[in-house]
Amino acid sequence: MTEYYDVIVVGGGNAGLSAAHAAREQVDKVLVLEKAGSDWAGGNSYFTAGAFRTTFSSLEELLPLLDERDEAFLQRTALPPYTPEQFLQDMQRTTKGRCDPELTAILVQEAAETIRWLHQKGLRFRLMYDRQSFQVDGEFRFWGGLALGTVNGGKGLIEQHLQAAAASGIEVRFNSPVVDLECDMTGAVCGVICSPPGRERQRIRAGAVVLAAGGFEANPQLRTCYLGPGWDLARVRGTPYNTGEVLFAALALGAQSYGHWSGCHSVAWDVAAPPHGDRFLTNLLTKQSYPLGIVVNSQGKRFLDEGADFRNYTYARYGAEIMKQPDGIAFQLFDAKTEPLLRKDEYTAPGVSRFEALTIRELAQKAGIDADGLEETVTTFNAAVMRDVKFNPAIKDGKGTVGITPRKSNWAQPLDTPPYYAFAVTCGITFTFGGLRIDPNGRVLDRLNLPMPGLYAAGELVGGLFYHNYPGGAGLMAGSVFGRRAGRAAGQWSRERRALDRAS
Ligand SMILES: Cc1cc2nc3c(=O)[nH]c(=O)nc-3n(C[C@H](O)[C@H](O)[C@H](O)COP(=O)(O)OP(=O)(O)OC[C@H]3O[C@@H](n4cnc5c(N)ncnc54)[C@H](O)[C@@H]3O)c2cc1C
Repeated sequence: MTEYYDVIVVGGGNAGLSAAHAAREQVDKVLVLEKAGSDWAGGNSYFTAGAFRTTFSSLEELLPLLDERDEAFLQRTALPPYTPEQFLQDMQRTTKGRCDPELTAILVQEAAETIRWLHQKGLRFRLMYDRQSFQVDGEFRFWGGLALGTVNGGKGLIEQHLQAAAASGIEVRFNSPVVDLECDMTGAVCGVICSPPGRERQRIRAGAVVLAAGGFEANPQLRTCYLGPGWDLARVRGTPYNTGEVLFAALALGAQSYGHWSGCHSVAWDVAAPPHGDRFLTNLLTKQSYPLGIVVNSQGKRFLDEGADFRNYTYARYGAEIMKQPDGIAFQLFDAKTEPLLRKDEYTAPGVSRFEALTIRELAQKAGIDADGLEETVTTFNAAVMRDVKFNPAIKDGKGTVGITPRKSNWAQPLDTPPYYAFAVTCGITFTFGGLRIDPNGRVLDRLNLPMPGLYAAGELVGGLFYHNYPGGAGLMAGSVFGRRAGRAAGQWSRERRALDRAS
């Protein structure tokens, strides 16, 4: 007997599980098919810090959402509001005005409401003091429009999602890769072909199918084809299972491709990191405090503006800049003044590629940087730092450099206080930007811009939101906003379709 579900969701990350919760509000039988085994549950979402970019008018508005709170900290917390207008501006600015206007408007308008919905489902939130605030004059000052994260990061996010799914009777089936989609005689999508390892292929029928199987960042061949030469060599920050076959199955069926196919999110990633994500260290292999120091290549030369903006608005495009350097590696440098401000968890994680020395020359020799080149860079940089501006890491302080290229626009301080520290990094790819085109209800559009009946999508597999760059925390938020919309619409469509079938 062929199995039947009201809604099948393909992919068990944050977008897929958000879709499953929303579908379950509409229909009884919801199945999540996940390619990985349970030991790799959660896709890329597991590897995240659980940071959600949501909007709020005040700290008070977030208080009812906080499941982990410390009153003493709260008394000393300075959290500037982050409005839908600011979120919209950040999306437009980071994507150079290319983000899809309709989808982006929904993302920024529904972020806060979607967070409340996730909280009702059982997701637990906290303020990310450790990652998104600095202590200035006795206060914890948040910066960069990002404050809210899940308790226990991405690991907590997936645990809480799966608990919520189990509690509402959603079935999650691991080791169940979807290899194709099925259509009925009217052309409507009516199921999937699943190919569990070592077993016969299964046809599973469904009233509607939501695709949430991630991008193609873990597929070296597709990375080279779409991102360009050299990208096959990038380290993958998250799951090895996002290899693009579901995305390409939908394209083969007539879905419209959309978004920045030669673009991706990529960051500074520890040079000793394994080829794919590490389930224990997850996002600790990233190195995100570079705005406080300088970044050089193996010749000792700077190649980017470390202080162009808060880390949240530059980190996702700096992996690609590192990729362009000799051997695709770079070094983040700090001194005794800035080292205490580094994100502790990332810079002291086990096995981190860290070097320490009392002189710049010795540091260069230990780290494998050209010593003459580095000494010259540091001397020139130190001389270029504006002395009369006060350093403040919690605002864009305008303490930049004068007369050097590239300039450092904010947070420039001379590297002059030993010991000195170097951290070796390479390019870690997070996710790809190209994907399927959806309408506001998550319906997949065909090449004529018409909805493909029965087919919905959400998450990294959707294109059109991110181009060139990305505001930190927008991936999980977009996955939940559009996962919820897609799941709800899929559930409704499935119900109506069944009613019609019964009537005819
Ligand atoms: C290290 C790291 C840190 C990050 N930190 C953050 C953060 O703090 N905040 C933020 O907003 N974003 C962050 N991101 C980005 C974020 O992970 C993504 O935007 C988001 O998780 C995407 O969710 P998704 O559900 O679309 O994809 P995923 O979570 O990757 O889920 C896709 C799922 O589909 C499954 N799948 C793939 N192919 C098939 C198939 N054929 N059949 C069935 N299932 C299949 C995969 O196994 C996977 O489980 C981070 C990413 C990484 C890697």
